[in-house]
Amino acid sequence: CGIVGYIGKRDVAPLLLEGLQRLEYRGYDSAGIVITSKASAGKAAPGLKMVKAKGRVRDLEARVPKRFAGTTGIAHTRWATHGAPSDVNAHPHLDPENKVAVVHNGIVDNASELRAKLEADGVVFASETDTEVLTHLIARSQAEKLEEKVREALKVVEGTYGIAVMHADHNDRIVVARNGSPVVLGIGEKEMFVASDVAALVAHTRQVVTLNDGEMATLKADDFRTYTTSGTRTTATPETVEWEA
Ligand code: GLU
Repeated sequence: CGIVGYIGKRDVAPLLLEGLQRLEYRGYDSAGIVITSKASAGKAAPGLKMVKAKGRVRDLEARVPKRFAGTTGIAHTRWATHGAPSDVNAHPHLDPENKVAVVHNGIVDNASELRAKLEADGVVFASETDTEVLTHLIARSQAEKLEEKVREALKVVEGTYGIAVMHADHNDRIVVARNGSPVVLGIGEKEMFVASDVAALVAHTRQVVTLNDGEMATLKADDFRTYTTSGTRTTATPETVEWEA
């Protein structure tokens, strides 16, 4: 239903919760957030921290621990299509090793077929969603780059999606893709935003790039690039959105 993401220097959890609130008008049944921070010298990699809740954004907010610091994150409000509204079925969806996090708008049409194949291969699913197949496909890809992992997963997926993906071992970036479900990038000063609706971005930047179907993007704090799902670079010139505050 709704997606918000951020990579930069600011404390990410309040930013994302505020973004989710701006998407509330679209309606939803649950919400969730996953964050991380860059590894600092001499310290172990920070890993992903996640909170999810059935209900309103304020129910999610109530569950966010006092210490929930990070500078990169993605968040979601869900309108259930596959699997009842519940804490577990709320997005993001993580793989069993807590490396890959996915938020998804849309419907994976061949989810039950892909799920059966993955289960036959020993994968244990945590949720009933169609989205979770994407998480496992990305986590199991042998490709080196996160972009490649996502592309491999999308190759076997049929249906509609706007997705945002984070990876604990590639935590300098967020990878997003669009097919039939809107994805808008918000270009800031040494910070980047992504959302399914400009309403979640305009408080922070008016410079936006709207992805086309079949397009992907990599967001880093100080730069972004767009390309097709087959890997060809595309040109994306930010446009200024007019918005009455
Ligand atoms: N099909 C996904 C689910 O049921 C995503 C629904 C949405 O767009 O919020 O979890």
